[in-house]
Amino acid sequence: MSQSTLEGLGARTPQAPQFGHDALIVCDTLVRIYRSGPVEVQALQGLDLLVDEGELVAVVGASGSGKSTLLHVLSGIDQPTAGRVRVGPWDVMAMSRRDRVAYRRTMVGFVWQQAAHNLVPYLTGVQNVLLPMAFAGVGRRERQRRAAEVLGMVGVRHCADRLPRQMSGGEQQRVAIAVALANSPRVLLADEPTGELDTATSQEVFEALRTANRDAGATVVVVTHDPTVSEQVARTLAIRDGRTSTEVLRATAGHDGAAPAAAQEYAVMDRAGRVQVPREYREALALTHRVRLVLEADHVSMWRGGGSGGRRGSGSDGDGSER
Ligand code: ADP
Ligand code: MG
Repeated sequence: MSQSTLEGLGARTPQAPQFGHDALIVCDTLVRIYRSGPVEVQALQGLDLLVDEGELVAVVGASGSGKSTLLHVLSGIDQPTAGRVRVGPWDVMAMSRRDRVAYRRTMVGFVWQQAAHNLVPYLTGVQNVLLPMAFAGVGRRERQRRAAEVLGMVGVRHCADRLPRQMSGGEQQRVAIAVALANSPRVLLADEPTGELDTATSQEVFEALRTANRDAGATVVVVTHDPTVSEQVARTLAIRDGRTSTEVLRATAGHDGAAPAAAQEYAVMDRAGRVQVPREYREALALTHRVRLVLEADHVSMWRGGGSGGRRGSGSDGDGSER
């Protein structure tokens, strides 16, 4: 998207972005601090994230690492404390209340872990799918056509006339994906959508997300604890302590039923050049506090800091682990 197009959108994008200007989703040094009384929790601590249009990305990380916070920010239901978030043409930090409603109605769809939170319990499957389209002002005939289409797409047309309690957990989540897709969002966010399901059912739900990505053209960001899910996507981002710490890239599997794709894990460098060295590496070589970086012709090597009499890093907030 050109700069002039973005500027033309006025309040949505008050400034032309640089970092990740051609990505669909950009999180730039995102910070989210929760305050309750004297207690402060830094749920996101300068998270950078880029997702290109058309990607299906898995986000993994320990409980409490900030995954849900990230999805809440991207879905427009939570405001970050600092940083920049852009999704398509929308500057998520600068949206008015009205923008936010439009954004949530048309730009992003979401599926939460608790199947019960995704569906209105007293409406049938098809009525649940019709609802967001009615809010968006879609005409009656088009609503009916689209509802049948998305239910069929994710394989739950048989749930059209059932209430959520008459569906299995996996069916509920697939209907929830149909609901999320109803208004053809460019982005589908799913927070542990298979967290309450057994492996076989998880696979069906994941297939529905894949369909949403491939056939409905949605860019999908799925938070998961499920290794069988993260193993099936081209890119898995690990969040640690509110930052993206590593990325696993896989050559896209399934082109011609080839052998499982080889995966390569990368550490993520943030915009200030910081890289988190994995604990195993640090422990194996007793790397603490001060390390020596050496620029080689085509790589950088890292050496344990010697006792060469360098001054103590007075400007740093060192952890005191220097020996
Ligand atoms: P995850 O989804 O990876 O388990 P969360 O994003 O839910 O992690 O939470 C990240 C951190 O923020 C945790 O320490 C959590 O306790 C804290 N947190 C999340 N939501 C709130 C809230 N509404 N108020 C205070 N702290 C919160
Ligand atoms: Mg969570």
